[in-house]
Formats: sequence, C-alpha cells, structure tokens
Amino acid sequence: MQIAVLAGGVGGSRFVRGVRHAYPAARITVIVNTADDILLHGLHISPDLDTMMYSLGGAIDPERGWGRAEETWRVSGELAAYGVEPTWFGLGDLDLATHLVRTQMLDAGYPLSAVTQALCTRWLTDSDQLQLLPMSDDRVETHVVIDDPAAPSGLRAVHFQEYWVKLHAGPEARQVLQVGIDHSRPAPGVTDAITGADLILIAPSNPVVSIGPVLAVPGIRAAITGARAPVIGFAGIIGGAPVLGMAHRLLPAIGVGVDAASVGLHYGARGNGGVLDAWVVDDTDAGLLPRLDASGLTAVSTDLIMRDPSATGRFIQYGVKLATE
Ligand code: GDP
Ligand code: CA
Repeated sequence: MQIAVLAGGVGGSRFVRGVRHAYPAARITVIVNTADDILLHGLHISPDLDTMMYSLGGAIDPERGWGRAEETWRVSGELAAYGVEPTWFGLGDLDLATHLVRTQMLDAGYPLSAVTQALCTRWLTDSDQLQLLPMSDDRVETHVVIDDPAAPSGLRAVHFQEYWVKLHAGPEARQVLQVGIDHSRPAPGVTDAITGADLILIAPSNPVVSIGPVLAVPGIRAAITGARAPVIGFAGIIGGAPVLGMAHRLLPAIGVGVDAASVGLHYGARGNGGVLDAWVVDDTDAGLLPRLDASGLTAVSTDLIMRDPSATGRFIQYGVKLATE
C-alpha cells in the first residue's frame, strides 16, 4: 500500500508517526511544507523538513518538539556576542550542521529534493518505506502583512518566522502571502506520490501556513482532485482553538473561521471543488457535524489528540474507514 501525506512540522511529524504505527507495511511519502524556509546567516533553513526528519529519525527534542535532542547553543551565543542579527531564531550547534550541509549542496546546484534525500539517508534508514519530499524545489516564502504606522502604506510584510518567532504572532495578520508560489512547481516525485497513492492523508497541520502552501503549489491541488485514492483530512482546530501554535491568528486573515467546520469547508469536498472525501473532527466538535453534513462534506468525530503514535494511528484508521466503506 502507498500512502501520501501532506504535512507541516511539529503537528505533521506527530501525525506521520501515527501513520507509520497504523500502517507498518505501507510505503509512506510525506509531502512537506517548505514555505517556512528562511535564509539566515547565509544558511538555508527548512524548519518543517528538519522537524519531520529529526522526529521520524528519533533525534527530535521531545520537550520543544523541534530541533535536536541534547542540543547546545554555543555558536548562537557567539553570533549574539558579535551583535549579529537575527538573535531571535534559535539555531543549535547540532542543528547548524544540517543547515551547513543543505546550503553547501544547494550552492553546488543540487535541488532541495535531492538535498533532503541526502540528509535523510542518515536519519531515515527505512527509506523504501518512508520518504520525505519538499513540496517544491523552488523558493517559496510565507510573509505576513501587519500594521506599521511608520510605513507610507501603513503596512509591512514580515517573513513568517519573524511573525511567529520574533513577534509571537502578536500583531494582527492583515494578509498572508506565499511569495513565489505562483511560479513554483511540485518537486520531483510529488505528483506521482499523489496519483500513485492508495490513500491520501492531510495532517492536522496549520491550514494557513503548512497545508495552505502545499495545496497552492500549482499542480498539487489538481493532482489530489484527480487522484484515485480517497482523501481524508484531520482537524488541528479543536473546540475553536489550535491544539498548539497560532492558526487562530492567521485563519481570520484568509477569511476562514477558527473552528473545525470552517477549516473542513475551506479544504472543501472533492467533487465540489475541494480536496476532501472525508473530514475528521474531535469529539469536542461533534456539534459541528450537522453543518458539515448539510454542506455535503462527509465528516465524523473521534478523539483527535495525538497522545502517542498508537492513539494517533487509531484515529487515522477510523477516518480512513469512514472514507472507504
Ligand atoms: P508546525 O509546522 O511546526 O507549525 O506544525 P504543523 O503545521 O504541522 O502543526 C501545527 C498544528 O498541529 C496546529 O494547528 C495544531 O493545532 C495541530 N496539532 C498539534 N497537536 C495536535 C493534536 O494532538 N491533535 C490535533 N488534532 N491537532 C494537533
Ligand atoms: Ca511550520
């Protein structure tokens, strides 16, 4: 069996651990958001790919949910001592090696997908069964437009990392832009993974800055719409708030309500212009099911907390059953 998963970083990697638990014999291809990528200190950083790679490779810091376990921060300390900005983005010593390798390979002309595969040979030893693909080899960056009274337009666009890590998603997001998305192409293997899949899963990742960019790469949405496999999505919004993160700060900027029904309807039912055959919400949100039903989106509720891979695997199988029976 072949499974394609669309995902971001922290929530996405927890979800993929559940997929692996539920379908141990499947070949899983994870199509990872790269619109969080940023160039800092001359290094190409791919936060969601790294979170996914470290997490599935057993090297993630379990408390933070990102970065390497047993990390140290000596290089960051030295950069700060030189007064080199930005000081707000955490770059651990162990993590830096990954960015050095990635940047070196990109500078030598390798596309991000090839670099990702090279990095993953260290971490994902079961590469026939689990493969990470960047959504695109082309540079795409999420920028958030915020108020800036000092600017002539009254507005300023900041990189998503600046909005999230430096500004803690404090300022109202007026607009969310995926710079470069219009001319981006799916990375090699992405559309094949979708069209060849027996199952397509959309992780409960951030709908605006994780799943949104993946679906917005020209060609990916069409591949999903035309795929033979059932497509099942899982809500990351429970009881009107994200389980973690700040999706609630960004959903209003794209005109989507901060609730699991609004996000499901934003993804939409396949055959109705959307990408989903089934949408799974948490039991807390069972009251939203009639609204989803009335809108023609097949939906079900269950316990959606990703406590551990087996709990996650259980709700994944439950959602798949709904879509396939
Ligand atoms: P990021 O790229 O690191 O921000 O991570 P993702 O975009 O992949 O995932 C963040 C999303 O995962 C947030 O919107 C959370 O609400 C969601 N999330 C985190 N933990 C859980 C969980 O236990 N259950 C569900 N259903 N969603 C979760
Ligand atoms: Ca991310």
